[in-house]
Amino acid sequence: MVDEELKQKLATCGRILNRLGLFGIYGHISARIPGQDKFYITATLGSTSLEKELTPEGMVLCDASGKKLSGNGTVPLEVVLHVVLHKAREDAGCVIHIHPFYSMALAIAGLPFVPVTVQGAPLAKVPVYRKAELLIDDAQGKKLLRAIGKAKAILLRGHGVVVVGETIEEATCNTVYVEENCKYLLTAAAAGGVIPVTKAELKERADQVAASAGKRNPHKRVFDLLDRKTR
Ligand SMILES: [Zn+2]
Repeated sequence: MVDEELKQKLATCGRILNRLGLFGIYGHISARIPGQDKFYITATLGSTSLEKELTPEGMVLCDASGKKLSGNGTVPLEVVLHVVLHKAREDAGCVIHIHPFYSMALAIAGLPFVPVTVQGAPLAKVPVYRKAELLIDDAQGKKLLRAIGKAKAILLRGHGVVVVGETIEEATCNTVYVEENCKYLLTAAAAGGVIPVTKAELKERADQVAASAGKRNPHKRVFDLLDRKTR
């Protein structure tokens, strides 16, 4: 049951990000099975429609090393980025790798990520992986881990983004917030000026999120909203 729910939620996450136009040409999303060292990942099926691949049936089950255990499709070439994050980061229950326009443009412009929206504020630190390359071997996986540190997201220059969250809901929200923040940041910079969210405002926002987390799950609320909006 847990597996079916996970696969369905991965598919929903994929549909949300695709319909928001955030995938770029391609991407992949994975979710660790709670309490296990296995994960589900969206596969490369080679179909003409991305959404045909983003279905529960399109998911592939992998072991901790990224080796396929079951499923119909092919494990993505860059599976190593999922492997290292699921292994090293307890808070990376879900890993998203896509190619959203403004997040890519910010890294290409060589500009640092500055929080300019209250949604983007909890992600105040978003580092950059400097070398424009695909991440396909263990050495590159280790390099990614060092570069991302404890951050929830990293921009890969000339390539895309990697975003994590404890849950699929959180990772989806973090991805949307990073891209939105980059969009406003770049547009404001082009218009002539940027007013960042201050440290005091960051703290206030973090306190608000912490307070509301006890009462309800803010990421689930936003995920459900995005789910309804992108059907
Ligand atoms: Zn890639």
